[in-house]
Amino acid sequence: MLVGIDLGTTNSAIAVWQDGQAKLIPNALGDVLTPSAVSVMDNGEIVTGMAARERQANHPKLTATAFKRYIGTDKRVQLGDWQFSAEDLSSFVLKSLKADAEAFLSETIDSAIITVPAYFNDKQRKATVRAASLAGLKVERLINEPTAAALAHGIHELEEEEPFLIFDLGGGTFDVSLVEIFEGIIEVRASAGDNRLGGEDFNDILVQLARTQIDPWGKWNIEEGSEESAALYEILRATAERVRRDLSKTDSTEFRIVWQGESHSTQISAASFERESQPLIKRLRDPVLQSLRDSDVRGEDLGKVILVGGATRMPVVRKAVTKMFGRFPETALDPDEAIALGAAVQAGLKMRDAALDEVRLTDVCPFTLGIESAEERGNKQIVSGLFSPIIDRNTVIPVSREHVFSPMYDNQRSVDVRVYQGESRMVANNVFLGDVKLPLPKGKKHEVYFSVRFTYDVSGLLEVDVKDQDGQETRQLVIQDGADELSPKDLEKRRLELAKLKIHPRDEDANASLMARAERCYQGYLGPQRDYIGHLISGFAGLLDTQDTRKIAEGRKELEKALDELEGDRFL
Ligand code: AMP
Repeated sequence: MLVGIDLGTTNSAIAVWQDGQAKLIPNALGDVLTPSAVSVMDNGEIVTGMAARERQANHPKLTATAFKRYIGTDKRVQLGDWQFSAEDLSSFVLKSLKADAEAFLSETIDSAIITVPAYFNDKQRKATVRAASLAGLKVERLINEPTAAALAHGIHELEEEEPFLIFDLGGGTFDVSLVEIFEGIIEVRASAGDNRLGGEDFNDILVQLARTQIDPWGKWNIEEGSEESAALYEILRATAERVRRDLSKTDSTEFRIVWQGESHSTQISAASFERESQPLIKRLRDPVLQSLRDSDVRGEDLGKVILVGGATRMPVVRKAVTKMFGRFPETALDPDEAIALGAAVQAGLKMRDAALDEVRLTDVCPFTLGIESAEERGNKQIVSGLFSPIIDRNTVIPVSREHVFSPMYDNQRSVDVRVYQGESRMVANNVFLGDVKLPLPKGKKHEVYFSVRFTYDVSGLLEVDVKDQDGQETRQLVIQDGADELSPKDLEKRRLELAKLKIHPRDEDANASLMARAERCYQGYLGPQRDYIGHLISGFAGLLDTQDTRKIAEGRKELEKALDELEGDRFL
């Protein structure tokens, strides 16, 4: 069975094409969004999703979040006794989504369409495919997130060809893409963005606002960069997240924290938050203008303006978008559900469901791919480090292109073909992807030649084939990804290693996440409220010991209700 997965920075989601439509699949807690978080529990078990997210405040050293930001890099995270790469961590999230879908559909899930940001490079795409493989999922295809969002909003059902603008403001990044359908083919025509702008920056605005209101004279006197200041920031940030969500619904709300054994509180109004957010709002404009310019589309010619990403729920962002385009954006789907739904539409397409039979889907290569070259200038001086493009940015994929080159010197014994990605004329400014050596036959430099073929497939994976003029010597490029590149054998080894780790049982997720939430709350309150939460925790722990599922379920409801009353409903 094939499913669609949005593997997000903050949250992930899984959806399926069923009865002619895309449907989201709930997890063990009944939520369609699963936090992209992994934590190691006190008993050494790995827990993902909400329980892991809730553990972040009390167990930051045992918990990892936002690892999508460094997928495809060498970075390792130490959680307890283990070191994990971002692809290991992503594989835990994918595994839990797979288990949710299998429980929900009573079918084995073996393959998936997974979405990735349009700007993801080759390494990031490959690492995503490996993460899926570690989770026991075959990637049928990676599709770009904006393409998925456009599919969810029915771009393939349009009568007229109108471009969609996808405005995606997530937890940490902002992406604008222009997606168009032309003669049944869907293309991302342009993408622009700011990878340092998202909901978290708006949290920082609230943190500043609250801190100046609570401690206007700087009496806390906390040294910048100290452990104490990091701890205070974490408390302020977590509170800001809740306050910001409240401000999406109300005009004013309370910002309350416990610090140094004292409770502090201040009232924050939506108006002051909006005023302080203006510098961030201004930064939303440029990528929008750039994507329109790059695709040669005028704002008034856009079909739909689609909001994606949880942070577009903020009224201040919606207001800005409405002002920018002179019309209301599309809100038919939840901004954090559209991408997974679009992946499921694509899964439906793949399974040749009758409802989607006629639609084909294409993406473009988001960056230029080429090799390093050198040239001889008039004065016989050799200038090296130049970039020779083979596949240009925005070429419709799949694509295969071949270029022919000659060596620099007579009787050159071999050539090192160095592959880069980027837009600069000099390779030094581009991203090195890998290299391969090809032996060359003897001969004058202008008489010898060799060909380089790049094949870039629909999942954004690149294969490089080099051969000499007679086809005697051929080499295929294995991109040297440094330590994080795994051969199929190493991958299998890693899969077995990870499989040895005990995963917290799915049917106990609800208890684990509630307990983690209760423990977080305990730290956030003082006095009688803290005592009350402590009492609730002991009561619930006692119930868990009884192993009586009915009693436990009742106790869970009660504890949940009590926590909701204290701190408001839980959120994703
Ligand atoms: P994403 O990366 O798309 O999952 O988006 C996550 C971001 O959306 C986080 O910064 C959340 O704070 C933000 N978000 C989710 N729901 C809301 C809401 N109701 N109001 C404001 N921000 C939200």
